[in-house]
Amino acid sequence: TVTAGVVAVQGDVSEHARAIERAAETHGFDTNIKEVRTAGIVPECDVLLLPGGESTTISRLVHREGIAEELIAHTEAGKPILATCAGLILVSSDSGDDRVETVDLLDVEVERNAFGRQRDSFEAPLSVAGLAEPFPSVFIRAPAIERVSDDVEILAEWDGRPVAVRQGPLVGTAFHPELTADSRIHDLAFFEDDTVLSVP
Ligand code: GLN
Repeated sequence: TVTAGVVAVQGDVSEHARAIERAAETHGFDTNIKEVRTAGIVPECDVLLLPGGESTTISRLVHREGIAEELIAHTEAGKPILATCAGLILVSSDSGDDRVETVDLLDVEVERNAFGRQRDSFEAPLSVAGLAEPFPSVFIRAPAIERVSDDVEILAEWDGRPVAVRQGPLVGTAFHPELTADSRIHDLAFFEDDTVLSVP
């Protein structure tokens, strides 16, 4: 059984829970979902999901509730995390916005709502490193990654800007892999050869 924590202070929590359940099932695992709203839950989790939503709200609550320190400890222990959209903004080193204090787990700078008004929301087939076929990617007022350090692997780009990256145990996407039935991004983040991925 994989114990998966979904940070649930705000955002699309149940979609992430379903997506990791589907991915785990294809590897023969049961999933025990824990919704993370207060401190004390993250230390029980094998893997974590940080959903999209509103990054100003999520960052305020994560810091206020003492969850931020636990996210840092989880990452330092090499346990996997998937952070999507507002979750990506939360784990970046710089959100580009004074209202969003980040947790700084991923050495990237982001720009919130970076893809312009006309294109607030769109779906695009994205080539992702490690996936044989393009991934149907749903962008909703998505951030772009503006700068990455040398330690960050770029997995996908859109409009010339990184939109999926990996650094150690953390995978971050600007888009919403939990909103399609395709669980290959959850696979990539958490499972490999029918084991729960854990990066030393
Ligand atoms: N625009 C949101 C923010 O900056 C993120 C959008 C999302 O998570 N879908 O917080």
